[in-house]
Amino acid sequence: MLKFFLLFILINSLNGLNLPNGSPSLYIPVKDNIELLDTNNFKQSVFGSERAWFVEFYSHWCGACQRYAAHWKEIALKTKPWHSKVIQVAAINCADPINDDLCRDFNIEYYPTLRIFPPFAQYDKPEHDSKIINQKDDLEVEMIKYLEKIETLPKKWPIFKEFTSKRLDVLFVSNKNAKYALLMIEKKDSILGMQMMLDFAEHADNLIIRRTTEESNPLLIQKLNVNLRKLPIIFLIENSKGSLKKYESFSDSKKFIPNDLDSKLDEREKFKRMIEKFINDNISVLNNMENKIQIIDDKVDDIADEKSQENSNKISMLDLEASLNVMLRSEISHSNLLNGEKLASLKIWIKTLAKYFPGRKEVKEYLKNLDTKLNSLQTDEITGTQWKQMTNDAQTSDSFLADKSEWMNCKGSKPNFRGFPCSLWTLFHTLTVSQIEHENSKTKPFDDSFSVKEVFEPIRLFVKYFFRCQECSTNFQNETHDYLENLKQPHDAVLYLWKVHNRVNKRLASDLTTDPAHPKIQFPSKELCPNCYNGTEEFNEEETLKFLLSHYSSQNIQELKEDKLEDADSIGLDVNEKEFKIEGDGLNEDVDESLRVVENKEFEQSDSSSMLFWIFVFFVLIGSYLIYSNLKKGKYKLKKHIV
Ligand SMILES: Cc1cc2nc3c(=O)[nH]c(=O)nc-3n(C[C@H](O)[C@H](O)[C@H](O)COP(=O)(O)OP(=O)(O)OC[C@H]3O[C@@H](n4cnc5c(N)ncnc54)[C@H](O)[C@@H]3O)c2cc1C
Repeated sequence: MLKFFLLFILINSLNGLNLPNGSPSLYIPVKDNIELLDTNNFKQSVFGSERAWFVEFYSHWCGACQRYAAHWKEIALKTKPWHSKVIQVAAINCADPINDDLCRDFNIEYYPTLRIFPPFAQYDKPEHDSKIINQKDDLEVEMIKYLEKIETLPKKWPIFKEFTSKRLDVLFVSNKNAKYALLMIEKKDSILGMQMMLDFAEHADNLIIRRTTEESNPLLIQKLNVNLRKLPIIFLIENSKGSLKKYESFSDSKKFIPNDLDSKLDEREKFKRMIEKFINDNISVLNNMENKIQIIDDKVDDIADEKSQENSNKISMLDLEASLNVMLRSEISHSNLLNGEKLASLKIWIKTLAKYFPGRKEVKEYLKNLDTKLNSLQTDEITGTQWKQMTNDAQTSDSFLADKSEWMNCKGSKPNFRGFPCSLWTLFHTLTVSQIEHENSKTKPFDDSFSVKEVFEPIRLFVKYFFRCQECSTNFQNETHDYLENLKQPHDAVLYLWKVHNRVNKRLASDLTTDPAHPKIQFPSKELCPNCYNGTEEFNEEETLKFLLSHYSSQNIQELKEDKLEDADSIGLDVNEKEFKIEGDGLNEDVDESLRVVENKEFEQSDSSSMLFWIFVFFVLIGSYLIYSNLKKGKYKLKKHIV
């Protein structure tokens, strides 16, 4: 019975570790042409692979990543023919807790971060053999530049180096069985030849494509009588049993030009269409990949629109604690190294949380524990792994933070909406109000020891160093550059943060990252606070301040529901379970290990029950003996009395 009960708790806690709706993803496998990686398949896929890899490290809650997703999909689609042999486009969600260690290992400071890996990449090399590519660059050009520079190419790849021989038969040296070769003559800075080689990489066995320029092969250009004003030109060279049969220019003959070729197409598309026609007419091995693609249902769209449980009159403790959990256990721990101003900012931030987080006693204790641990550090730097360990060590029976990322008011209608950033704003507002409450509880509030910047500055530092949505972090620094001039009076931080947040709301009002079920409005709405408005649009700041002080007050925080509290209190089991999930190799191992925990607990339990049993037996025996001896004495006295 006990075993079943514990198993039930274990299964529940396993479910509890999942983010809402499982592991959210911004991409749909296969359909988006993006390989989805996670901690279980990353190393096997990327390192030692015959293909190069171009990986986006993202976070599903980050607005910048959501906007960038369309671009990443576009790149994946554009380069689709490159994937199977040369370079794979992939993505990994760093906001999924199972990827925490991996994202830390790659020192993912900001989302999205793009890293490109060569073929046969080696994990042990600096930066794990990868290079960061700026997301704002032309990614196709960046990929081509990167591939061009690779020294040792895998056998199956096209040869990117310019063709320098004046003999055309040399084209077939690398693949004697190929019947045809296409030689593109183009200008030095053109990437068209590379694009064609990559676009038709799947046909490299049957069709050789090379490129050359006037600078690198003047003799051949002369021999072919190329009109340099008409570049780019493609020559078709046919190989017949080792000797060249003929060669001709694509542009000289109508047979290479598709009938329906649209003259408005750009150069790349035109050449692509011509080569496709040539392959269809002559090689007929065009793998119609389209037919093979298994379209997976649009999971994201299929996810039922969940009714948000927003109770806009209350702040949810579940959101606040989940915010702490994601920030402390994931976001901060993704740093490879914490030192200098970053470590100093972390210390200030944790101190602020320990002092002002208006939560349960155990959570406050947990934050205090972390604060103490950070302040007793003997070194001036720690690794992300050490920090993560610290977040585990701070956990005791009366000091804990549940390892859960469930949202209540911050729950979006789809997994990529709201969540962590929403909870972060909520936490920030709550902290500014908590500072005022704290002050009001003093006998001499707002005396010289009070600093209106005490909470706001740590918030700003936290956003700068640990809010990894790069765009959000930069915007926030810019939007609050004037904070010193604006924070003068005791309540200024509450109002200032409200104004900044409303500016962000305005900027994002019609953004595609906004949850349609929760439009970005100027907060508070008239329904929520009619008094906050002077007229139709204008806010009454005095009334708004009153509203904010009450809305974000500790009195207005909706405590965790009974079941959530029980869930949260089972953190001992949660933490163990999570550790196994991250460290173990396979699911069975996870389950076995977790069961072992359960069995150990059961063993401990049965051990202590048997102890209780023997204590009970011992007392029963002692009791019986005493009763017996008393009775005996009584009998004796009785006997004596009778005599
Ligand atoms: C510091 C920071 C900077 C960000 N910058 C960007 C950015 O540059 N680009 C981007 O795409 N995303 C940015 N985000 C994310 C974005 O602001 C939202 O958090 C995200 O889109 C989720 O929005 P939401 O609908 O849940 O509401 P949120 O804007 O997250 O608000 C959460 C809750 O706070 C309350 N609220 C709303 N406005 C106010 C206010 N003015 N004062 C007090 N309470 C309020 C409401 O109850 C609301 O439900 C940022 C987030 C943070 C924390």
